[in-house]
Amino acid sequence: MELTVHFFFNLSLIMILLFFGVLWLEKLKSLRSIQITAVIVFVESLVICLIFTYPLHDSLFLDLRLIPIIIGGLYMGLGPLLAAIAIVLRAFYGIDSGFLFHAFFYLIIALLFFELSPRFLKKSSKKRILLSVLITFLLSLPEAITLLLIDISYPTLDVWIAYAIIQPLGVGMIAYFIEEIDKNILLRQHVIKTKRLEAVEQMGAAISHEIRNPLTAAIGFVQLLQDHTISEEKRSQYLAILKSELHSAERVIQDYLTFSKPQIHTQQSFNIYDEIKHVIHLLKPSANRNSVQIVEELSKHGTIKGDPQKFHQCLVNIMKNAIEAMPNGGILKVSTETTTADVIIRIQDTGSGMTQEQIERLGEPYYSTKGDKGTGLGLMVVYSIVKAMKGTIIVESELGVGTTFKLIFRMSPPTSKLEKGFR
Ligand code: ADP
Ligand code: MG
Repeated sequence: MELTVHFFFNLSLIMILLFFGVLWLEKLKSLRSIQITAVIVFVESLVICLIFTYPLHDSLFLDLRLIPIIIGGLYMGLGPLLAAIAIVLRAFYGIDSGFLFHAFFYLIIALLFFELSPRFLKKSSKKRILLSVLITFLLSLPEAITLLLIDISYPTLDVWIAYAIIQPLGVGMIAYFIEEIDKNILLRQHVIKTKRLEAVEQMGAAISHEIRNPLTAAIGFVQLLQDHTISEEKRSQYLAILKSELHSAERVIQDYLTFSKPQIHTQQSFNIYDEIKHVIHLLKPSANRNSVQIVEELSKHGTIKGDPQKFHQCLVNIMKNAIEAMPNGGILKVSTETTTADVIIRIQDTGSGMTQEQIERLGEPYYSTKGDKGTGLGLMVVYSIVKAMKGTIIVESELGVGTTFKLIFRMSPPTSKLEKGFR
C-alpha cells in the first residue's frame, strides 16, 4: 500500500496549503489580490505535488498534481495555466515517454476545463461538488489503467485505491471546503449589507422625526410673517423664534452627521474651554424646557488634539442624553480640570441613572431605552470619536441618583500662531 500512503501524505500537504491560503485570503480586500493569491496557492500545491512525487520508474512519477489542476481549472478557469505549469515542471524530471504521455493528457484536460469552467460555475453548490468528484474519477481511470498496463507486477488494489478513491475523495473534500467558505463569505456580505441598510433606515427615521418639529414650527412662523398688518415688534419676535427653530433643525443634522463619517480627518490642537462654552450655549434652550439648571466649573486651560467639530459633536450627544435623563428638572454640571498630562471633562447629571447592565451596553449601536424618541446612535458616535482622539470614557451611574460621564484626553501643546492662521 505504498502508493496509497504516499497519496495520503500528498493530499495532507495540499489541504494544509489550502487552509493557510484561505486564512490569508480572508485578510485581502481587492478582487485582484484575491485572484493573485489564489493562483499562487494553486501553483504552490502543484509544485509541492511534484516535489513529493512517488517515483515508480525512471519515467513514471506518481502524485496528486491532478487535484490542483482540476480544482483550479473548474473553480477559477486556471486549467490551461496550471496544465502548462505542470508540463514544464514535469520536464525537469526528464523528457521521456512518461513526460509525453502527461503532456498530451494535460493538454486535453486544459482545453476541456477551459470550455467547462463557465458552465460549471453556474451550477448549484451540491452539483459542483458532485461534478468535481465525477470528473476526477473519470480522469483518474486512464492514469490507473496505463499504470497497470505498464507495470503488471504492481499491486492492483493499491493503484485502484490511490487513483479511484483518494484522488476523487481529495477533490471532493477540497470542493466542499471551497463551497462552505464561499457560503460564509456571501453570508457575511449579506449581514454587513443588511446592517448598513438598517443603519441608514434608522438614521433616516431619526433625522426626519427630529427635524420635522422645528421645521413645522418654522413654517408656521413664516406664514405668520406673511401677514403685512403685524407690528414691527411682533415681526422681530417671530423672526427670532424662526431663527432658533432653524438652528435646532441644524443641530439635529449635526448630531447624526458624524455617524456617516466617524474617522477623524482634521487634526489640530484646540482649547476645550471655548468649545464647551459653545455647546452649553447651544443646549441652554432645551435645558430650560426640561427645567434643567446648567452649572459650569470650567478651567480656562486644557488643549487637546483632534477635530473640534467632532469633539463638539461628542459633548452635544452626551449633554443631550443628560438633559433627556432629567425630564422633571435637575442639575447638569459641566466641569473641567487639567493635570500635567491629561485634560478631564466631567458631565454630571441628577437624572434617572443606569444599572450596571445598562452602562455596559452604552455605545452599542441602536441601544436605546427611549423607544421611538431614541436612536441609540448618539453614544456610538461618542465612543468612536473619543477612540479616534485616543481618549478614554468612564461612566459612573446610580439608579435614581444620576450619571457622570468622564472624558479623559491627553494634553496637547497649544497650536502655534502660524498653524492657527491656516484654519
Ligand atoms: P438615544 O439617546 O437615542 O437613546 P444614545 O446612544 O445617546 O441613544 O444613548 C443610549 C442609551 O443610554 C439611552 O437610551 C439611555 O438609556 C442611556 N443613557 C445615556 N446617557 C444617559 C444618562 N446621562 N442618564 C441615563 N441614561 C443614559
Ligand atoms: Mg442620545
